[in-house]
Amino acid sequence: MWISLEAADDGAAEFQPGHVLGLGLKTNDSTLMRHAYTVSRGEPSARRFEHLYRVISGGRMSPLLAQLSTADTVFFHGPFHTPIEQEIQTDAEHILLISTGAGIGPLFGYVEKALREGEARPVSLYAGFREESHTCLRAELDALAGRHQRQSRLIKSRATGRREHVVQLQYFQRRSLGEQRADHKRR
Ligand SMILES: Cc1cc2nc3c(=O)[nH]c(=O)nc-3n(C[C@H](O)[C@H](O)[C@H](O)COP(=O)(O)OP(=O)(O)OC[C@H]3O[C@@H](n4cnc5c(N)ncnc54)[C@H](O)[C@@H]3O)c2cc1C
Repeated sequence: MWISLEAADDGAAEFQPGHVLGLGLKTNDSTLMRHAYTVSRGEPSARRFEHLYRVISGGRMSPLLAQLSTADTVFFHGPFHTPIEQEIQTDAEHILLISTGAGIGPLFGYVEKALREGEARPVSLYAGFREESHTCLRAELDALAGRHQRQSRLIKSRATGRREHVVQLQYFQRRSLGEQRADHKRR
């Protein structure tokens, strides 16, 4: 599930995919329950940020996050860790991203931002899920590929792994300038 938050104080809220925040909820006895959640999308100018999270059945915090309403308050502190874009080496020729489970959130947010800002290198995203019911963001990835149709292609395949694991692979590659030129000449 997604949770979208807007900072309501005067502090900086310049968060990017890959930053980790401590989110806190006041419990009935007024203590603060806190867990770490990774930023999937950030919109610094609007002071907004989004997290993708998995609801753990019987978990202490994630089921409470899923019950929140628009006017509810969530406390946050951070950021910790480094945004994904700062982890990519400047001389890398190909960007390869691998996630499991809800970890696809920040990688999706990174690819979305990178393509919007004109990233020219090929980007491949592989996402694995333990069970098919855990698979998420299919529509969002399809929409992203649709928006970058001329420069990208989205190839999806599914492999059933050993034991009970089902792995969904999604391969997202921005086409190189050479490929685009060759394609243009062919038309
Ligand atoms: C650096 C960091 C970043 C994180 N970012 C995210 C994020 O972006 N999105 C997100 O959904 N979570 C993220 N997490 C995990 C998150 O902090 C919580 O641990 C998670 O939401 C479970 O909290 P809970 O209170 O609902 O469950 P808990 O009450 O803490 O756990 C209940 C039971 O579920 C088990 N459990 C906990 N997590 C899982 C799981 N993923 N799969 C299966 N069993 C589990 C526990 O071992 C325990 O037995 C991150 C954790 C860290 C350390």
